Amino acid sequence: MLSGEELQRYGRQIIYPGFGEIGQDKLKASYVLVVGVGGLGCAASMYLTYAGAGHITIVDDDSVDLSNLNRQMLHWEGDIGKKKPISAANKLRKINSSVRITPVCKKITEDNVDVIIKGFDVVIDGLDNFKTRFVLNAACVRQKIPFIHAGVNGLLGQITTIVPGKTPCLACIYSTPPVSEETVPVFGVTPALMASLQVMEAIKLIAGFGETFQGRMLYFNGESMEFAYEDLTKNPKCSVCGPGRLNAKEHRK
Ligand SMILES: [Zn+2]
Repeated sequence: MLSGEELQRYGRQIIYPGFGEIGQDKLKASYVLVVGVGGLGCAASMYLTYAGAGHITIVDDDSVDLSNLNRQMLHWEGDIGKKKPISAANKLRKINSSVRITPVCKKITEDNVDVIIKGFDVVIDGLDNFKTRFVLNAACVRQKIPFIHAGVNGLLGQITTIVPGKTPCLACIYSTPPVSEETVPVFGVTPALMASLQVMEAIKLIAGFGETFQGRMLYFNGESMEFAYEDLTKNPKCSVCGPGRLNAKEHRK
């Protein structure tokens, strides 16, 4: 049940056809995990907080650096040196005090990923490297949790929604993790745009309306202002989601 205050705060989204109070209630009950609190993760966790996603956990092991401040909106000058999840949680709680924000200052690894993602309704990719994305993708497939992938480089961005058992997973799309450069060029607007789309996907998935971007990759090119998309194909021999893998109890050593 939504309180009078909630009905007022979220009124403009509640009147959206197909969403309504039921959609808002589902959002309030949801558990969303944002992995990475950089350009993507800051914008994603902000919009989730504004929209009233009830429980948001943010994970990162990095500390705020001056070079982050051109794009990572939740980290301000006074936060330099602070752990990113702590810096972000402080602001998110001020945006919307009714949302439960849980900061986790950890690096996602093969050993902790299953414990960290357990019980979440949606996982949002705010990472900057494919090595960790692959670890997260495999765990989301194992636990059948929708994984909303996005990546940015300069003015280029991409996004797809991976639904385990239904769509290709990241390991179907890339046979090996693409090598991520140490320092990629980036303006703040590119991750902000892709993160907005990630949250749009998360809201639709949680509330159950509209169509999510499943089985397709959306590409954005900010230099030519073009959006393009590609149909993705499931790899029948995928080492992560191929036959027999989804139902196996334990894949990890
Ligand atoms: Zn796969």
